[in-house]
Amino acid sequence: IMETMEYGPSVEDSTAVRDWLAQRESFGHFIGGAFTDGGASFETRDPATGEILARIAQGSEADVTAAVAAARAAQPGWAALSGTERARHLYALARHVQKRERFLSVLEVLDNGKPIREARDIDVPLVARHFYHHAGWAELRDSQFPGHAPLGVCGQIIPWNFPLLMLAWKIAPALAAGNTVVLKPAEYTSLTALAFAEICQEIGLPAGVVNIVTGDGATGAALVASDVDKIAFTGSTEVGRGIARALAGTGRRLTLELGGKSPFVVMEDADLDAAVEGVVDSIWFNQGQVCCAGSRILVAEAVAPRFEDLLHARMARLRVGAPLDKSTDLGAIVDPVQKDRILSICQAAVKAGAELVGGQPQEGCFIAPGYLRNIAPANPGMAQEIFGPIATLSTFRTADEAIELANATRYGLAGSVWSESATVATDLAARIKAGVIWINGANMFDAAAPFGGMRDSGHGREGGHAGMLDYLTGPAIAPPARTVPKPPAAGAPRI
Ligand code: NAD
Repeated sequence: IMETMEYGPSVEDSTAVRDWLAQRESFGHFIGGAFTDGGASFETRDPATGEILARIAQGSEADVTAAVAAARAAQPGWAALSGTERARHLYALARHVQKRERFLSVLEVLDNGKPIREARDIDVPLVARHFYHHAGWAELRDSQFPGHAPLGVCGQIIPWNFPLLMLAWKIAPALAAGNTVVLKPAEYTSLTALAFAEICQEIGLPAGVVNIVTGDGATGAALVASDVDKIAFTGSTEVGRGIARALAGTGRRLTLELGGKSPFVVMEDADLDAAVEGVVDSIWFNQGQVCCAGSRILVAEAVAPRFEDLLHARMARLRVGAPLDKSTDLGAIVDPVQKDRILSICQAAVKAGAELVGGQPQEGCFIAPGYLRNIAPANPGMAQEIFGPIATLSTFRTADEAIELANATRYGLAGSVWSESATVATDLAARIKAGVIWINGANMFDAAAPFGGMRDSGHGREGGHAGMLDYLTGPAIAPPARTVPKPPAAGAPRI
């Protein structure tokens, strides 16, 4: 790993970001359109090298109160703008994110450890897309949601795995609907949120419409306890449960996007090469730190040996290394604490009888891709969200058994089904209990497609029409209708 840190010519240039960091060193909160000064702070580090990147303000209760007051003061004016005027601001945010795409990608990589290829090809383009899409909703709000009104001030708490993208998922619909926000980024990864605050200044977003208060879980708890009209939370199921308890009976709206242990079902007739590539996109994307990762691979027994051979060969070709290197497939785990957490779940799984293929820790914050095989349903590795580059691999004999295994979890965020038969795939997809199902694909996101979970994965949707409803008054959103496509007539060509 350390050898590949000697950045070669294929490494993304980080000079602009380093200059930006050097000019600032210490970051305040963004409240009422300006950055604050002084107060308690903590360090943020590059997980790939351990280097300190900057000092970040630790938000106090007073900071949260000031931010909520700024958002409250700005809300009537923001809501009174016409849809077209609000859309203009959202378009400008999208455009400026695009203009700074390179800068934001490198900043995200330094702060989070994800491979530059992913930040540049996936995270940041999706951020811009999310703001463009919701500019459209700002214009359409009055015609599409007659009788609905904005909620007011929304408190938003996000995790560290897709820092800027989670910010976009939260801020874009809230603003499109006419709300103002106080957002708290995760403590490991505050930098792109602060760069986004500068973009808000640059485009002339009215002061107080977006406020960013940085800090750890205590700052998040202060936001939950504050005078906001809604909390939108993405993070762990444990913290989400605590927030639900804190808000019970307050009448404040709540949406929760929590953890997952999503099934990745490979049927006997699947295109195995494509399915193996799906695993790469699923559990080895972002080092497996993905809430909807297909972390439980379930393969039809008849094709399991061949699938595993292909999987093993593909896994051996993945490159773990310096996140800024353009040929890196897996970068750094976000923090040593998370690395230890991943390794301890794997150790417990092995102790309980599973066999770990690959998945070895490397120097620094790196873990090689791997999977647990010969793993019993009751093994802790099957139940717990590992949130790292380690999947589980089990086999089934019949479609019913596949469904039973797929649904043997307390979560219900996503699922992926691989089959060359539309009938088989749609039948299985309808029987998996999860908010999002992909057929012959994995981890495909679009601003127009609602995303969210059921059971211990939370409730509420982000994206599209359903996501907008969660930022408007009116009846809380009902679970989306599950329409099951009709199977093709007998003799129809299989796709
Ligand atoms: P976490 O729950 O510890 O932290 C998430 C955020 O909540 C952070 O900003 C943190 O500071 C804040 N927080 C912590 N304690 C809090 C409290 N008591 N009150 C209010 N805020 C508090 O989770 P994490 O470790 O940062 O993220 C990983 C988890 O997030 C995984 O379980 C993953 O599945 C989940 N996740 C879910 C989705 C989704 O869309 N469903 C997306 C990404 C991550």
